[in-house]
Amino acid sequence: MTAALEAQVCVVGGGPAGLTLALELARRSVSVVVVEQSGRFDRSFRGESISPDSVWLLERMGLLEGLRESTLETRHMEITDGGRTVLSADFSDFDQPCPYPMELPQPPLLEALAEAGGALPGFKLLRRATAVSLLRDGTTVSGVRCKGQDGEFDVRAALTVGADGRFSKIREMSELPYRKVPLERDFVWFKVRRPDVWDGHTYRVRIIEDRHGLFIPTVPDLVRVGFNIPKGGLRELRAGGISGLHERMDELAPEISAGVRESVTSWSDTSMLDIFTTVVPRWSRPGLVLIGDAAHTLTPVLGQGVNHAITDAAVLARQVAGAFTGNGSGDTTEALNRATLDFQREREDSVAMARSIQLRQEKAFALSGRIPGMLRRSVYRLVNSNGRLKRKILSGVYYPLQEADKVRPFETAPRPAASPAR
Ligand SMILES: Cc1cc2nc3c(=O)[nH]c(=O)nc-3n(C[C@H](O)[C@H](O)[C@H](O)COP(=O)(O)OP(=O)(O)OC[C@H]3O[C@@H](n4cnc5c(N)ncnc54)[C@H](O)[C@@H]3O)c2cc1C
Repeated sequence: MTAALEAQVCVVGGGPAGLTLALELARRSVSVVVVEQSGRFDRSFRGESISPDSVWLLERMGLLEGLRESTLETRHMEITDGGRTVLSADFSDFDQPCPYPMELPQPPLLEALAEAGGALPGFKLLRRATAVSLLRDGTTVSGVRCKGQDGEFDVRAALTVGADGRFSKIREMSELPYRKVPLERDFVWFKVRRPDVWDGHTYRVRIIEDRHGLFIPTVPDLVRVGFNIPKGGLRELRAGGISGLHERMDELAPEISAGVRESVTSWSDTSMLDIFTTVVPRWSRPGLVLIGDAAHTLTPVLGQGVNHAITDAAVLARQVAGAFTGNGSGDTTEALNRATLDFQREREDSVAMARSIQLRQEKAFALSGRIPGMLRRSVYRLVNSNGRLKRKILSGVYYPLQEADKVRPFETAPRPAASPAR
């Protein structure tokens, strides 16, 4: 017989979405088991730019206090096209509690979430455990079967949450229909020491025709660099040797030429991101819901992946805890179905807006040739010269939660008296 664990909620995936959800549920006295396939949080390059609204959420959850040494504020943004600055923004111009995006590598963030959760009764994180199939009770999902180090076991739960990322197996097994939209480019990431001529707080985007790079200062004194390659073009780039990467940087950012030759000596010093977006029309079915990248994979533009993962988690925790406590003697399955549908209703417009801005930006990046290039530069300059328009666009991307909170306070779980968040 297969061993079994029981909880009110089973979360598959201990990334930003899964661990934030589990912590927020446990703080509301909902029992939760997180199933995470990896044994450690030592992922690099992934989701390190945190949007201001998520900085605000993490701050409210008491998680940033112990993480200051792992973070760096981004205070300015600057886009150059063909060597000229076409758009710049200063985040201190925005009157918000948390105006700045932040660089925060995932390992310390995930450690802090796991540590805060681990101090609460009802929170269990199972590492090196992989969800391999869904359990069903008729048409309702009732948990997952997992493979751990000592063999198979089941986790039974009233609600199963697929927080297992952009290649979600839970989404696949749930048979919820989805559409994967590949974009025209992939992305290569690496880190390099920050040159003296760059301050540590400016996010730079450099565009030359249809080639572009992101240059994001990060901790301790590095720059995280991402540059585009044609879709599926990694093999060709690699075949030309690492000098191809060095030459791309000579063109886009000569300031880092020396550093790149020093620290990126082989392709193993880089990481590739296959860029696509996923549209899932319905995020839930009875007994199951998807969140984060599993529900809506986004592109790297404007660092929105982690932001929407964390926001999903905070909203879903409130809805789900309400379903467990607020349905009196009613049917919990029904209450959870309503909660997951309400969750999607509350979140999907904001995700759709982020996706639409990203896709427009992706199209602009892909333009090449004299006339399309001129058009792109004109649009950036127009936005740059119109303060109201610039504010509206940036506020829509970076501050929707903080703005909404001024009208209707956003609810996060009460923090325990002595918060153990580091
Ligand atoms: C190279 C790269 C750079 C990025 N840069 C940024 C950025 O700067 N800013 C930003 O906001 N976003 C960025 N993203 C996107 C960001 O990483 C994701 O949007 C974010 O991590 C989504 O969080 P999540 O919790 O939904 O999924 P994930 O972070 O993918 O977490 C999913 C978890 O599920 C686990 N898992 C998967 N399958 C199973 C299974 N069957 N059983 C158990 N566990 C399982 C995985 O091990 C993983 O820990 C980047 C992504 C990549 C790949």
